[in-house]
Amino acid sequence: MNLDTRTAVAWITRAADDVRADEARLTSLDAAVGDGDHGANMTRGLAAATASFAEKPPATPGAVLVAAGRSLVAKTGGASGPLYGTGLRKAGKALGEAEQAEPAAVAEALQAMLDGIRELGEAAEGDKTMIDALAPAVAAFRDAVDDGADLGAAARAAADAAEEGLAATVPLQARKGRASYLGARSVGHEDPGAASTTLVLRALAEVTTEDAA
Ligand code: ADP
Ligand code: MG
Repeated sequence: MNLDTRTAVAWITRAADDVRADEARLTSLDAAVGDGDHGANMTRGLAAATASFAEKPPATPGAVLVAAGRSLVAKTGGASGPLYGTGLRKAGKALGEAEQAEPAAVAEALQAMLDGIRELGEAAEGDKTMIDALAPAVAAFRDAVDDGADLGAAARAAADAAEEGLAATVPLQARKGRASYLGARSVGHEDPGAASTTLVLRALAEVTTEDAA
């Protein structure tokens, strides 16, 4: 299957539902290394994104991601809002005006998302941020597509890689964002943004796998 408008809307809607369901966990992760608002921030931003689809239905998968990105920038708050929002806008722009995106085009879009977040946040892998989940996920997605995987299988590979990246943030000391103020006390906890990134990618795997069945 390709990523069409309906599937793109289903992705962001599922991400909003999954983040809301896991809001308390994201909040407690952020309470340990930050200010405890990441669950509320992401729930608010993604709810605004899904509300925007109802108000003004996007015509292409690219438009879905651009609209979601705008809502996240406007409504999420915190450091994560502009980062996710910019990343999703860049992903949407990378998809252009096409009505459907093949897996290789989705790989390009995810790469554009990663590049956008890196450019804005200036975090590298190992800094204990969402990049530690997103970078291996994007690489795994691309590798899977190169090996002939369909969209659902590539998305599952990406979500699995994000989960491993999330686990690998535990021993790291944060070098970016609010958690970096804690210095060595940031060690021993999962990064909240890496946790939300894992949920967002798992949501993509869920909607692309269900549609294929
Ligand atoms: P805030 O830190 O402003 O309260 P959130 O709690 O919503 O914002 O988001 C925190 C998450 O944002 C962190 O767990 C981390 O993953 C991510 N983050 C913070 N700064 C950066 C950065 N410069 N680059 C990438 N991700 C970052
Ligand atoms: Mg916070």
